[in-house]
Amino acid sequence: MQIRVGHGYDVHRLTEGRKLILGGVEIPWERGLLGHSDADVLTHAVMDALLGAAALGNIGQHFPDTDPAYEGADSILLLEKTVELLAREGWKVGNIDSTVAAQRPKLMPYLDKMRENIAAACGVPPDRISVKATTEEGLGFTGSGEGMSAHSVCLIERI
Ligand code: MG
Repeated sequence: MQIRVGHGYDVHRLTEGRKLILGGVEIPWERGLLGHSDADVLTHAVMDALLGAAALGNIGQHFPDTDPAYEGADSILLLEKTVELLAREGWKVGNIDSTVAAQRPKLMPYLDKMRENIAAACGVPPDRISVKATTEEGLGFTGSGEGMSAHSVCLIERI
């Protein structure tokens, strides 16, 4: 079986007056992530990992933040489009492992729902999708609550 590995990384700033959406889950919180789309930092990292594995460039090339079509876009739908792009090139999702770095709020109660959303968009069972969360011990921009970041690695397989 032909396989490829990919890596994605994304950062968004936290600000007042925005919804906090991670892995397609709206999380009740006093601030949300700033961005052109829904600013779902986790889903963006997943998309970049998949695009990277297939050597298809990055999220900004396929879904530019200058395009009004993507204003307030649901990133889970963009992930579905990304999976379609890969399928056209003969690739399907094997598995994905991701980590969100956020000082607050506690994300544990929402992780399984994020896995389900990402799995559904990728057309795979949730046991192929892992989402983890970590604080960064109060250090750096995630630790201070200035923003959140997400890392993702994936394996894709030839269809
Ligand atoms: Mg992003």
